[in-house]
Amino acid sequence: MPTATLNPEIEAEADRLLRSLMHVECDPRGRTWNLATCREIAPLTLEINRLKKKKDAVILTHSYVEPEIIYGVGDFKGDSYHLSLMAKQAKAKIIVFAGVVFMAETAKILSPDAIVVVPDRGSGCSLADSIDGDGVRRLKALYPDATVVCYINSTAEVKAESDVCVTSGNVYHIVANLPARRILFVPDRLMADNVRTELKRRGVDKEIISSDGTCLVHDQFTPAQIAEARAQFPGLKVVAHPECTEDVAKLADFVGSTGAMMKYVKTTPAPYFLLLTECGLVGRLEVEAPEKRFIGGCRLCPYMKLNSLEKIRDALRAPRPDQIVTLDEGLRVRAAACIERMFQLSPVD
Ligand code: SF4
Repeated sequence: MPTATLNPEIEAEADRLLRSLMHVECDPRGRTWNLATCREIAPLTLEINRLKKKKDAVILTHSYVEPEIIYGVGDFKGDSYHLSLMAKQAKAKIIVFAGVVFMAETAKILSPDAIVVVPDRGSGCSLADSIDGDGVRRLKALYPDATVVCYINSTAEVKAESDVCVTSGNVYHIVANLPARRILFVPDRLMADNVRTELKRRGVDKEIISSDGTCLVHDQFTPAQIAEARAQFPGLKVVAHPECTEDVAKLADFVGSTGAMMKYVKTTPAPYFLLLTECGLVGRLEVEAPEKRFIGGCRLCPYMKLNSLEKIRDALRAPRPDQIVTLDEGLRVRAAACIERMFQLSPVD
């Protein structure tokens, strides 16, 4: 039987992809990453990487998007804070944000001269979309003496109404050090609960009032799940994100941002880890810490999974108007001030 002629460029790209993706067991679409799977996507990743150079573009990839995006075409990978810093420093003409819309808005706020595009305009966020500018203004009218703190998972409009932005990595430090006692925290009710408890534990006196948003991934984890996993896997370490409920956070061995969770897993000896966050982070750790073992079912963010290589390619070839992020300049400037304040108040790494 005649053998098909191999294209050396595709073969080299498939090899490159395989070196990272072969470690991914927790694939959101249940794929097995072998040479054949990598060959299938290689033409697309080659085209995207060529388009990036030609168009002076960078691709920012959140840890929750699919692994072929992170390791195939991403220039930067990380959590929202890390990526917002990258967006600020990016000198590229085009920024493609493979994440969700509020993150792309954050990139546009910090890099107003760049063309910022989102692969899929429908990639919202249950947290960010839980409150708008009007909602924040109504709360401010009720609590005029409060300092308004917004989690980075919020729209540009909400950031423009807030005094300071925070991430899951710096929230405790920033809230603890704000001069005001009364804090209006939007949009994550569960993170507000965790901050309230943690600051009380640290002896910091704050009144934290929150709006009512939750993350549809993190609010699903339960104490029963942790108990069951611990019974089945002795020595297990449970690692949770502060968007989880307080009851879950209390039972975890470690609570932190996705960046801090990764660091904890990489540096902690344990036979198994249960990660209470979006499944994409497990995929990243399987690539970057292949000796670690993970248990637990996969919880996917439907918004993050709207990203795809095809949509990224199309956005790079010729972005549709709905893929381009635009912001009113007055609103952008006010939102930028809120984020800049976060950069000023963040602890030094
Ligand atoms: S995982 Fe939760 S917080 Fe993150 S984008 Fe999805 S819905 Fe929003």
